[in-house]
Amino acid sequence: MNDRERDSGLDQPVTALRGVGGRLAGRLARLGLHCVRDVVLHMPYRYEDRTRRVAIGSLQPGQSALIRGTVQLTETAGRGNTRLLCRISDGTGSLTLVFFRFYPALRARLVAGAVVECYGEARPGTVTLQMAHPEHRIVRDEEPDRDRGSLTPVYPATEGVNQTKLRGLVEQAMRFAEQGMVDHLPAGLTARLGLPPLLEALRFLHAPPPDSDVARLQEGTHPARRRLAFEELLGHHLSLRRLRHAARTGRRSPILRGNGRLTTQLLEYLPFRLTAAQERVLEEVNRDLGRSEPMLRLIQGDVGSGKTVIAALAALRAVESGQQAAVMAPTELLAEQHYRNFRDWLQPLGVSVAWISGKQPARARREVLAQVAEGTHGVVVGTHALFQEQVVFHRLGLVVVDEQHRFGVHQRMALKEKGHTASAQPHQLVMTATPIPRTLAMTAYADLDLSVIDELPPGRTPVSTVALPNSRRAEVVRGVAKACARGRQAYWVCTLVEESDMLQAQAAEETASLLAEAIPDVCVGLVHGRLRPADKETVMARFAAGDIGLLVATTVIEVGVNVPNASLMIIENPERLGLAQLHQLRGRVGRGETESSCVLLFKPPLTEASRARLAVLRETTDGFEIARRDLELRGPGELLGTRQTGDWHFRVADLVRDGELLPEVQRQADRLLSEQPDVAAALIERWVGDAQRYGRV
Ligand code: ADP
Ligand code: MG
Repeated sequence: MNDRERDSGLDQPVTALRGVGGRLAGRLARLGLHCVRDVVLHMPYRYEDRTRRVAIGSLQPGQSALIRGTVQLTETAGRGNTRLLCRISDGTGSLTLVFFRFYPALRARLVAGAVVECYGEARPGTVTLQMAHPEHRIVRDEEPDRDRGSLTPVYPATEGVNQTKLRGLVEQAMRFAEQGMVDHLPAGLTARLGLPPLLEALRFLHAPPPDSDVARLQEGTHPARRRLAFEELLGHHLSLRRLRHAARTGRRSPILRGNGRLTTQLLEYLPFRLTAAQERVLEEVNRDLGRSEPMLRLIQGDVGSGKTVIAALAALRAVESGQQAAVMAPTELLAEQHYRNFRDWLQPLGVSVAWISGKQPARARREVLAQVAEGTHGVVVGTHALFQEQVVFHRLGLVVVDEQHRFGVHQRMALKEKGHTASAQPHQLVMTATPIPRTLAMTAYADLDLSVIDELPPGRTPVSTVALPNSRRAEVVRGVAKACARGRQAYWVCTLVEESDMLQAQAAEETASLLAEAIPDVCVGLVHGRLRPADKETVMARFAAGDIGLLVATTVIEVGVNVPNASLMIIENPERLGLAQLHQLRGRVGRGETESSCVLLFKPPLTEASRARLAVLRETTDGFEIARRDLELRGPGELLGTRQTGDWHFRVADLVRDGELLPEVQRQADRLLSEQPDVAAALIERWVGDAQRYGRV
């Protein structure tokens, strides 16, 4: 830690600021402001220009401005005289101040002849322009304007902490910063990037000169803003790199070299050959497994790119090497499907696969747990129950986590702790179907090595997609009937905004019975989150076998379900879902030889944003392209799921807007870690602080 920074008091709790007691500190905590440095880094989200007074006669509707005028007339209006109207004039024009609630004292102050200074937004009124509840004060007529040398910042605030208070606190905190906030970036670097020094940037952002480019400031593209964004991205990136370092140093994993017997057998037994991309990724995985340094690898691959078989081959390698492998999936349904896949692939090779779920009957579960502890099973598949509960492994050498975007980094940390003694820990393989651009991935997942399966298996036909309004539902149902009559299989996905399993299940049940009535020749199946796992499995098995022609489902089928003969998908109310989720859903079709189609059955009117999302889906089936567009439309927060909202709370940076800074962020991170680890530590402390401490437990 840098002494100067610590000495300057930036680490002190906010109570070190004048006027901050326990109660205010509690409120500030709601804004994420814990120490003085947090206050320094609390950024305005917009600015007001109070540096010049505007003549009332020149005010435009919608303009926010500082004005001064003499009170002409003050009167009450409305039923019960609850409204106060005050007409003021400055010789160039007049304007009405409107107060919907007021104390008698206000009325007494606004007597005719008083001079009042106001800041507010001018809106059209009946006779003159109006300002509703402006900030105002009575001034002496000859009193000169207050000397405001800068634009007025407006900060994110919270109940009980108003702008005036915040501005005062920032001003105080900035005095600490002036004393000793260290600029950790070399001047040469910032100059090359066209960015100002740290303190200059901070001063500018909290008090921009009157002629500043407010639009760029508010957009976040101003160099002062980018200076901080760069540093923040660097701080976050460094913290993940440090997590990764901590997870590796002093830890050893079993060397999984295997003898190749089982993996070769599986490769021969599979009805397909690996794609070049799969081969490459498998090689990367195998290289890691053959070392004693723990593997921490992320496999990124679009829906249907064939990640599962890579996981199976890695698991077999663990078994070949006398170790166990655990496979964890985020949902019961997906875990079950993995279980079936692994069982079908591995059991013929004599490898026993176990299933552990939170919903399993206690006795069956106890039995499996005992066997896992004895090492009877080579591979164990399950949901997160696998790691939350008292599961003891005999020799756990590899952990595979599917669909990582549903887990937070903390869950991943907890999982790593599982099954390892003080010095040994399993290798870790994480798989995600959320393709994100490489630079973003390398920053957001800097604690993992990255492998990308950037190729789909051959013979896939792209899914053609149409969007139709709900009013054409009957037509769609007829289309489904016709397709099923020709031996095609279809999904009908019901979506509900409610997170409630029960409501979702109800909606799906209703839809299923309506469809069964409308299409009597077709066997309609139903699957949702409230079904017992065994029942779900039965339905899915019957669908896979072709006994069920039309499967009505909630979004539980979003991830991983694989029935190649299904070639038609209807998604109800797609406007409620995000692009990534829609892409996942649609990925359930287009897995076989038949040409597949997807109907987005939306409920008009669409918002601009939904219209844009549906258009993206119609235009492309490329997951990376969709992710890129998604990023533009929504920002990375939702794309990265919990990581973003939980651990990745950015104060200044925006991964899309500031995305072009990322390559330089990585270069600087490399440099700092090797040459100036103390500076790296200071940057992490400055920007990640508590979250980092949390991540370390
Ligand atoms: P995802 O990457 O979405 O998890 P899966 O692993 O479920 O994809 O694979 C989708 C389907 O493609 C499965 O039926 C799988 O057996 C099949 N598959 C995987 N690799 C290949 C390949 N190289 N050639 C043909 N089919 C493949
Ligand atoms: Mg999968």
